[in-house]
Amino acid sequence: MPFQDITSDIRAAAPDLRGRLLANQEMAGLTWFRVGGPAQILFTPADEADLSYLLGKLPAEIPVTVVGLGSNLIVRDGGIPGVVIRLAGKAFGEIALEEGDRLRAGTAVPDVKVARAAADASLDGLAFYRGIPGCIGGALRMNAGAHGGETTDVLVEARGVTRKGEIVTFSHADMGFSYRNSTAPSDMIFTSALFQGRPGDQAAILAEMERVTSAREAAQPIKERTGGSTFKNPDGGKAWQLIDAAGCRGLRVGGAQVSEMHCNFLINTGGATAADIEGLGEEVRRRVKDNSGYELHWEIKRFGVAA
Ligand SMILES: Cc1cc2nc3c(=O)[nH]c(=O)nc-3n(C[C@H](O)[C@H](O)[C@H](O)COP(=O)(O)OP(=O)(O)OC[C@H]3O[C@@H](n4cnc5c(N)ncnc54)[C@H](O)[C@@H]3O)c2cc1C
Repeated sequence: MPFQDITSDIRAAAPDLRGRLLANQEMAGLTWFRVGGPAQILFTPADEADLSYLLGKLPAEIPVTVVGLGSNLIVRDGGIPGVVIRLAGKAFGEIALEEGDRLRAGTAVPDVKVARAAADASLDGLAFYRGIPGCIGGALRMNAGAHGGETTDVLVEARGVTRKGEIVTFSHADMGFSYRNSTAPSDMIFTSALFQGRPGDQAAILAEMERVTSAREAAQPIKERTGGSTFKNPDGGKAWQLIDAAGCRGLRVGGAQVSEMHCNFLINTGGATAADIEGLGEEVRRRVKDNSGYELHWEIKRFGVAA
């Protein structure tokens, strides 16, 4: 069932809007899992001022969701009610070097491009972004990290727009980073980030990026339709080991399967629905709890409503 088309209501409330509004826009193609229903409205802001304008005018009862590159995301089969915001590279894709070994990036920039730009400038400390398939907006929300580095280690400040349309700057402390999480308000839409690097040896940085790439190809099903690590590692345990010990390696629900290669990755083997993937995740949680007593918590974000 498609959602009601509310584009004309939004245009009436925000007549000077410059960005693109699309009703009932399919989301599956915007996520790595390739599943899920449509966005009631998909909004691509023309720039930060346009984003702020829409949020300032949008009635408070209309929910707003922001997505990045969809690499840590399940969109449920019934789709996402309200306005889904996706920042385009054209307006939010700039990278600039700044004084003091710093680099500023728009939040639509893929993490890998930040790693490459830092390497080009012989800036050390950002090579870990080489292997994370999201964009900087997702990295800020998730405190993305790998291979000994995390966003919290390198972030100076982030800029964004609140649900009411105010443009604000968050210091590192304001971001409230912890393992794969930030306590910045959940409706905050980040628009850019300032990172601190340190002078380094370019050959060594490139070698580190190469090491990250090879380690990933060997250990993760990176060519599959997946959402990355499904569950956070609980205190004192590793999610993949607990899942393996509970006998879930290769477990299937419909078209969804626990990866044979890395037990904390779920895979859409072809015809999975979002309900298959989420249901498989819940079954894994249940079996791990029964087997070990550990309670696994979702790292993957789940948006929208069931079909
Ligand atoms: C093969 C594979 C390997 C992975 N390996 C790693 C890894 O090693 N380390 C790691 O940390 N993660 C890993 N991930 C998970 C994922 O890549 C990261 O969490 C990434 O940071 C998500 O970014 P995204 O742009 O895809 O965000 P999405 O998946 O689109 O969204 C994730 C969250 O970020 C929020 N978000 C996105 N953009 C913004 C914005 N502009 N403002 C505010 N919130 C925003 C969304 O609302 C959502 O809550 C992996 C995923 C895959 C598929």
